[in-house]
Amino acid sequence: MLKICKFGGSSLADDSTFKLVKKIVASDKSRKIIVVSAPGKNRLYNVKVTDLLIRLAKNRNDNIAVEMIIDRFNAIIRPLGVDFNINKELLFDKDYADFLISRGEYFCAKVMAKYLGYSFFDATNFITFLKDDVPILKDDIDKNCFKKYLKKGIVVPGFYGEASGKIKIMERGGSDLTASLLAKLFSANVYENFSDVDGIFPCPSAFTDGYLPIKKLDRFDLENLDVLNPTVFNISAYKPIIGTKTVVKIKNTFNAKLKGTLIKDTINTKKTVVLSVAPYQNTVVITGRNLLKKATVFKKIKTVLLAENINFDISLLAERRIRLSIKNDRVFLAVKLICGLFFKKSRDYRSFK
Ligand code: ASP
Repeated sequence: MLKICKFGGSSLADDSTFKLVKKIVASDKSRKIIVVSAPGKNRLYNVKVTDLLIRLAKNRNDNIAVEMIIDRFNAIIRPLGVDFNINKELLFDKDYADFLISRGEYFCAKVMAKYLGYSFFDATNFITFLKDDVPILKDDIDKNCFKKYLKKGIVVPGFYGEASGKIKIMERGGSDLTASLLAKLFSANVYENFSDVDGIFPCPSAFTDGYLPIKKLDRFDLENLDVLNPTVFNISAYKPIIGTKTVVKIKNTFNAKLKGTLIKDTINTKKTVVLSVAPYQNTVVITGRNLLKKATVFKKIKTVLLAENINFDISLLAERRIRLSIKNDRVFLAVKLICGLFFKKSRDYRSFK
């Protein structure tokens, strides 16, 4: 069993979150490949290290940004007792923008590798770009070289690769894709994507209100959701593992015992499931599987809307998607009511209320 874990910026924001990451990694021997983002925001720090680096790339004389970056890393390194001299490392020997901006992930991976006792491998070993800037795996990777290191574990920085001998960054949030590419390369059984949410929610955050995350999705469900509701994990990061056996789990570093949302390539089921409800302009869009079977989903929706005198026209009625055009600006109420019909709230939420 091989698991690849990607930790997002809020899971790496300070020394306490590094400790959580170590606890998670140590609790499962199969967590052998760790991909990290750069330190992100939390209650103490309201700026991401990547944003400070972008500032610095625009103005190399921005000493305040340099100090803030050094402070952020020292606030992690010192309490953890990791031997890493950020001041020395920050004397960048190359000063092109992509190189500078990639250093958040690079330093973070170096520190994490030392802290976990894993080996550091730079992303430049694995990732390059197609002509149109799409990140891909290099084609000359000798997987055997990594075998002996994988026994103990490796840490790889996310978000960048190498093109024509130079560091090149991906789009923002690219670390998810780095981990997918590595999952494919090493045929990982599981790719755990750790952030600060319990999973992919069935409705936009304004409506989430205690609802439990979606339990299981397949690739087509994810595609369907993605259009409406940019989620913690979008379909472009899933692309490299399409057709592979890797199962993706969206998990919360701060609540790691929760199962989160599981994404599989395909789920064969005849069951009717409503997966998401979202407003889109003056319509409500409902996605799911086998939505037309026995027409019960639509009947329930119709009953609840008409009971509140919400009038609508049907714009689309299909197996994976229903779209209703709602009259008189009552879209938000319609979304709330439909969510209430199909989604469960967490027990904690109810007892808290
Ligand atoms: N650190 C980068 C960002 O803030 C990339 C990433 O997190 O994946 O977008």
